[in-house]
Amino acid sequence: MALRWASALRRKEAAKSLLLLRGAQGSSPRSRSSSAAAVAGSPSGDHLIYTQEHFALRESLRKIIDKEINPFVDKWEEEGQFPAHQVFKTLGKAGFLGVNKPTEYGGLGLDFSYSIAVAEELGNIRCGGVPMAIGVQADMATPALARFGSEELKREFLAPSIAGDVVACLGVSEPGAGSDVASIKTKAVRKGDDYIINGGKMWITSGCQADWMCLLANTSDGPPHRNKSLLCLPMKLPGVHIAKKIDKMGMRSSDTAQIFFEDVRVPRKYLIGEEGMGFTYQMLQFQEERMWGVANILMPLENAIQETVDYTRQRKAFNQPILHNQTVHFRLAELATEVELLRSLLYRAIALYICGNDVTKFASMAKLKAGRLARELTDSCLQFWGGMGFTNEVLVSRLYRDSRLLSIGAGADEVMLSIICKYMDILPKK
Ligand SMILES: Cc1cc2nc3c(=O)[nH]c(=O)nc-3n(C[C@H](O)[C@H](O)[C@H](O)COP(=O)(O)OP(=O)(O)OC[C@H]3O[C@@H](n4cnc5c(N)ncnc54)[C@H](O)[C@@H]3O)c2cc1C
Repeated sequence: MALRWASALRRKEAAKSLLLLRGAQGSSPRSRSSSAAAVAGSPSGDHLIYTQEHFALRESLRKIIDKEINPFVDKWEEEGQFPAHQVFKTLGKAGFLGVNKPTEYGGLGLDFSYSIAVAEELGNIRCGGVPMAIGVQADMATPALARFGSEELKREFLAPSIAGDVVACLGVSEPGAGSDVASIKTKAVRKGDDYIINGGKMWITSGCQADWMCLLANTSDGPPHRNKSLLCLPMKLPGVHIAKKIDKMGMRSSDTAQIFFEDVRVPRKYLIGEEGMGFTYQMLQFQEERMWGVANILMPLENAIQETVDYTRQRKAFNQPILHNQTVHFRLAELATEVELLRSLLYRAIALYICGNDVTKFASMAKLKAGRLARELTDSCLQFWGGMGFTNEVLVSRLYRDSRLLSIGAGADEVMLSIICKYMDILPKK
């Protein structure tokens, strides 16, 4: 079904998006708020990593975002949660939750560059919380399961996640272990044909709504990089307690939970891949999570610049548009340049990654730069909105709050710097 969708989409939509691309070449940058132009926001013609199929996929997703998501975002932000089951069902039916997953489980069987195209387009959602939860479902909680899980496990957990029938979450961080993943304390102890799980997880995206968790737990007392395993943990089991929904400064429409496990019993067959390989699997999973995060911030950054241009062009102070001050338009041009540099680094990493190369260094550099740039750019743009920038009525203030997470989540800036130092061979040995 999904495969048929993909090939039909290739034939029909590719021709259409080619026309859109051509049309957009002649359009002014100000018309970018229309969906066609926004999709064509990337360079047209030959592209480093995107083909016409990538653009067609984005165009198709943009329609869903405009119709099924963006009209409701303000309400969900206010309510502090979005209806994940409803939104994921819509996205799952259209094939967007398993773009690079195997077709046997309902995925589209495309390479990771298509997931990146989707992540980029999801950046047009007018908040950070909803795309983040979609990213967790499609590219953070499921890559290890798709790669290393048994046939039975993939049928039970992966296929319904791709279809959007269930909500997935990723359980790595704990109250006492975030940056230092190796020091997690949650244990899964073997007892007969089961594991008995005790411990707790912190900061779990979609944790209040999730049906299952990709859980990282210690399964032995061995060395910390070889004593961990990933398990599929159904969230409705006795002993799984949602302790609280965490109140956050940003990403408000995404629910974030603290969760405890008290003698939770899961069958041994729920182990993903080999016992003791969980840390390695999770580090691999992090690579995709980080590149996804970079791709997902590009459109919000561009949109923040564009909306700031539009606002400062019409807002006057001292008898001239605010935009006409050189300090304003030069700053915006400089920030737009930085976004393009970030985009180029990401595309380079993706081009190498889909050919099977280790891109840990480039992915870490891109993640570091994305976090830093998001802070700098949203702060500068917000400044040019004056008092309006300090209200909750404009996109720029939401982006300022939401994008702050990028320097912390999925490995803080300092963790990225440590990885880069390792690759440069300048990190002092412990
Ligand atoms: C909204 C939100 C959603 C999240 N979603 C999930 C999720 O779905 N699943 C999940 O498992 N986790 C999730 N997280 C957790 C996130 O990945 C962690 O917050 C992150 O890894 C940092 O861990 P920590 O908060 O424990 O910070 P700590 O580890 O306590 O670090 C605090 C700070 O110390 C500094 N630091 C740390 N290490 C070093 C170092 N080596 N050198 C120098 N400075 C250092 C950094 O500045 C860092 O920000 C989420 C977090 C948030 C806020």
